[in-house]
Formats: sequence, C-alpha cells, structure tokens
Amino acid sequence: MKIESQLAQIGSIKEPVTGAVNFPIYQATAFRHPKLGESTGFDYARTKSPTRSVLEEAAAQLEAGDAAFACSSGMAALQTIFALFSQGDHLIVSLDLYGGTYRLLERIMTRFGVTASYVDTNDIDAMSELCTPNTKAVLIETPTNPLMMITDIERVASWAKARGLLTIVDNTLLTPFFQRPLELGCDIVIHSATKYLGGHNDVLAGLIVTKGKELSAEMAFLHNSIGAVLGPQDSYLLMRGMKTLALRMERHQYNATTIANYLLKHESVEEVYYPALPHHPGHEIQNKQSSGNTGIFSFRLKDARYVEPILRHIKLIAFAESLGGVESLMTYPAVQTHADIPLEIRQAIGVDDRLLRFSVGIEHADDLIADLEQALAAAKREIGEEL
Ligand SMILES: *Cc1c(COP(=O)(O)O)cnc(C)c1O
Repeated sequence: MKIESQLAQIGSIKEPVTGAVNFPIYQATAFRHPKLGESTGFDYARTKSPTRSVLEEAAAQLEAGDAAFACSSGMAALQTIFALFSQGDHLIVSLDLYGGTYRLLERIMTRFGVTASYVDTNDIDAMSELCTPNTKAVLIETPTNPLMMITDIERVASWAKARGLLTIVDNTLLTPFFQRPLELGCDIVIHSATKYLGGHNDVLAGLIVTKGKELSAEMAFLHNSIGAVLGPQDSYLLMRGMKTLALRMERHQYNATTIANYLLKHESVEEVYYPALPHHPGHEIQNKQSSGNTGIFSFRLKDARYVEPILRHIKLIAFAESLGGVESLMTYPAVQTHADIPLEIRQAIGVDDRLLRFSVGIEHADDLIADLEQALAAAKREIGEEL
C-alpha cells in the first residue's frame, strides 16, 4: 500500500467492537486478567496501552521498522535511546545538532560516563579518526537544523555497520513521507513527533522506531523501565495529525521552495540554506535518498541590524520557536534554539547573528511572501533612518 493510504487509514480498521472509524482513546491504566496466567495482551499502561499501541504499529510500518515506541517528547525518546549505552561508551554525532540533544549529551549523559564527539558526518575520514574501541553508535540529523546540512545516510550506515556500530537517525525534519532511514541500512529512527508528524503545534510527543528483533526487545525493556511513555489522549492527537501528513508535507515543500527562491533574490538576503535549491551543497545526496524536501529553511541577512525589526514587523508569520506545524513560525537560532550550544561550535557551523530560521506553514505562499516583503522593507527603512 502507498504511504498516503497508510497514513489516512491509521487506526481506522482496528477497533473491533463498534467499528469506530477513528481508534478510540482508552483512558485506562489497568487491564483485567481473564484468569491466572492469562492476559488480554494489556496489563499495565506503562508497558502497553491500546491507543498507544495503534500509533506504535503505524509508526513501525511507516518507517519500515520492526517495532516503535511512543514517548512523552522527542527528548524522552532520545533519553530512552541513550539508555542503551553504558559508562565508558562513546558516540559520534552530527556537528550541527538540535540544541536539546546536545544539552542532553553534554550535561546529563556525561554524568553517566557516556561521551560524544561532534563531526561533519560527511567526512568519513574524520569519523574514522574519532572512532575508538569504545565507540558504540553514530547519531545523525539530516537535514540538520538550522543549516540544513545533508549527510549520505547509506554511506554512514555502511561505515558504521563495518565497525559494529549502531546508526541512529533523527528523522524529524523529513518524516517517513519523504525519507526512510531504516531502508537505507540504519538501526534506529527517532522523531520529535511534536513537529511534522503531529503537525498542529498542539501535541508534544516522541517516537522511536527500531530494526531487528534483539534491538527491538531491548528498546521495549528500556521504554517500559524508564517510563517516559505517551499518554492515550496525546497518542490519539498524534494519529489524528498523522492522517494528513502527506498533504501537509507536499504543501510545506511547495511553500518553502517558493519562498526560498523569493528570498534568494531579495537585496537584503545574503544566502538561503535549503536543500531543494540546486546550489545547496547537499542537493544531490538529498535527491538520492529522499523523495522530497522539508518545510523549513534558514537564511542569512546582509546586516545583523535587520533581525530585530523583521521579527517585530512580521504579522502573519509568528516569532516563535518550534517547527513543523501548519502555522508559519520564524526563530532566531543564535539566541533561542541554539543558545545551549557553545559560541565556538555555533560560529564554526555558521549559526551567527544574521541567521533566521523559517518553518514555513501551509498558508498561501503569496500571503507569506507579502508578510516577508513588508517586514524586510520596514527593517530596511528603520536601519536607513539610523544611518
Ligand atoms: C524538537 C526536536 C527534538 C526534541 O523534541 P521535543 O519533542 O521538543 O522533545 C529533537 N530533535 C529535533 C530535530 C527536533 O527538532
């Protein structure tokens, strides 16, 4: 079945009693045992819960995995994955990393003796140099956020496999609609489902999808033992959002491409970072491994003084963190999402004070361009008056 059909039908043929087209919210934590030594398959909701199970089956199918685990947030999913590792273990991680993941690794996992090295994951030689007998896994984001750097997933996965390392991919930005890392040889996919999968800026959730029997069993043990699981109401909301993922991703992609091209020609803009643009360094790899492009991109202004007035003058586009929802949001990575990343690293990767990130929503592209046009014009006017 094509992915559009899988998405639209999430949970809709599973409810055996009433035939309800949407799988109901089972607001229960305890389940009656038929008799001693028997179970309905549900015992206690941390271990397994009906609404969450339907979501997890759908996620495993969409990502071509063997099992999926719904968590209370993307960070809870990452924390659960990192519990695979023990004192002394080492990870190789994408340099331009989500700020919260960096914070979890550097401020919390280091307390447990798990360390990470950050590297451009296209530089296989640099990765080989960093690899020690204690290295256990590679964690990549592709595209990265905010600089939209692309990593060749297949290449990294085969490099890792040859060394006995796990490959973990944060697939938040592309979703299984555009990219399925497990089909490219990876072992674990993680999502902040708060973003595109949920899609409506109204539910916080994370997903882990695993490949392989042993790894899936180990993850089930950790998911249940740690307990950062997703509740039934949020599981329902997430499935409801996912039903329209295909339509939303196509519109996000169309809007982002249209607006990225508009900004590229704008006199106040120095550069636009979006893999759909042919001059983007990751354009070809992106086209090889994914069937489309995400709805976020970043752009660098010619003058840092434009930033403040632009964020004050945008009206339709909200000045807010997060990404992946139907509403357009703009953020200033250097002081918001990436504030926890040290200045040297931020500067090395190019998250500077002229960079803005735009999560393009599903509004009409003309209205979004008109909003940008007036905000950029107002910024230029104000700066001009200062000079
Ligand atoms: C938001 C985000 C996370 C963290 O997810 P939460 O749902 O906010 O906990 C992890 N990775 C990426 C790429 C993200 O964008």
